[in-house]
Amino acid sequence: MAADARVAVRRKVGITAFAAIPHLQRHDGQDTSMARERIATGGTLILGGGFAGGYVARLLGKRGSTIVSPENFMLYTPMLPEAASGTLEPRHTVVPLRVMCPHAEFVLGRATAHDPERALVQVETEQDLLNIRYENLVVALGAISRTLPIPGLAEHALGFKSLADAIYLRNHILRRLEAASAASNDAHRRRELTFVFVGAGYAGVEALAELSDLVRDALRYYPALRHVPQHWVLVDAAPKILPEIPMRLGDYAAAQLAKRGVDIRTGTTLDRVEPHAATLSDGEKLLTHTVVWTAGVKANPLLSQFGLPLDERGRVVVDSTLRVEGMHNVWALGDGARVPNEATPGQPDPPTCQHALRQARRLAKNLHGEAETYRYRMLGQVATLGRYKGIADVLGVRLRGFPGWWVTRTYHLYQLPLFSRKLRVVTDWTTSLLFRRDIAELGMLGRRGLGDG
Ligand SMILES: Cc1cc2nc3c(=O)[nH]c(=O)nc-3n(C[C@H](O)[C@H](O)[C@H](O)COP(=O)(O)OP(=O)(O)OC[C@H]3O[C@@H](n4cnc5c(N)ncnc54)[C@H](O)[C@@H]3O)c2cc1C
Repeated sequence: MAADARVAVRRKVGITAFAAIPHLQRHDGQDTSMARERIATGGTLILGGGFAGGYVARLLGKRGSTIVSPENFMLYTPMLPEAASGTLEPRHTVVPLRVMCPHAEFVLGRATAHDPERALVQVETEQDLLNIRYENLVVALGAISRTLPIPGLAEHALGFKSLADAIYLRNHILRRLEAASAASNDAHRRRELTFVFVGAGYAGVEALAELSDLVRDALRYYPALRHVPQHWVLVDAAPKILPEIPMRLGDYAAAQLAKRGVDIRTGTTLDRVEPHAATLSDGEKLLTHTVVWTAGVKANPLLSQFGLPLDERGRVVVDSTLRVEGMHNVWALGDGARVPNEATPGQPDPPTCQHALRQARRLAKNLHGEAETYRYRMLGQVATLGRYKGIADVLGVRLRGFPGWWVTRTYHLYQLPLFSRKLRVVTDWTTSLLFRRDIAELGMLGRRGLGDG
């Protein structure tokens, strides 16, 4: 076990469900001996085409790799709140993996099982099952929303993790405006205009700020609602919002939101969700049709079936070179890995894009050379608080208001891969400066049908 003995590591190497049988079997028990077999391009198989996996493949360049991912794009999550509010066209917040990594082979599918002894991963595609053989395996399966056993949460709350979530939330909120406009009494109108966000980290704060801007702008077209009070509520169990950033900036963010009428409930938890209500731990029952859950993430649970050593939070345990402990040719990074950072001894990396990107840079080098230690000191942190307001802490310089917003946008634009994507995003931002927001509700899109109405 690694130097850091404080981590409780559950060793599971070589005890997957199928290690003892001649053919790989899926975890649902189905025999997969008929699966087609192939070898990863350049010997490197990357599971997950998110921030970490996508960047490793891009940086491997002509050495080649095979990426397996259920979507054919990398989602640039820091821009998700703007996709939800309609400032950015949702398609512009994703980068097609085939364009981003032109030398990689892309397989649209899901990794479903792993046999470390035979260096094989099983992948389920739309057509069939593949067994992909590797020389080096990169595990970058990310994280999923961390939910709690709160009554009604799974049934009635909305998530905010994927592009589909962002588009759904935007349409849901625009439908609330339509419902409020059609409502026959004030109590119903107020209920439709009450929005509860649980989780005051980056995702929750940025999403709430962007969507409250959307509603404020949209109300111009709903004369019947102009005098109905809106109620935006931000709930978090912690004593402060945005605990990740320096206290002064966090206080500024809280003050800005409060000035805009956001009801901040720190030190409070969500107790129950019903179709038209949310009950908080202080006993208050808020009548609402909208509860958005952004209270953190947890490692992809699939990792527990891949025969890898996991820590107590289900993250893959890697050494300082990003190599999975006890395995010579398996590597892991991103939100699904516990990555030690030499620049922050004793403090593994937090789940952020910045860290996933730096880990990917190190790993791409380690895969084809002398494996060196990963080390990254954060340059700063940035967040937007809706249009023209933001906070940035860059190299110790703290900016807020318009400069904070400008630095945040510039930083994300710089990090976004592909010139063509950057140009599309700049065009969207410029357009949003010149024209009012689009308030079309497109919830009906994406459904298959024969047009029978
Ligand atoms: C709304 C939101 C806003 C955020 N904002 C910021 C921010 O402003 N700044 C910041 O630094 N970080 C932010 N983050 C965090 C950041 O997105 C993550 O830290 C980063 O995406 C981690 O990269 P990853 O590759 O580990 O995971 P992901 O990017 O989630 O990628 C995981 C990939 O694995 C794929 N996958 C899942 N299951 C399988 C399977 N069975 N087989 C194959 N592939 C699979 C997924 O489809 C996905 O492509 C935000 C996150 C969210 C949700």
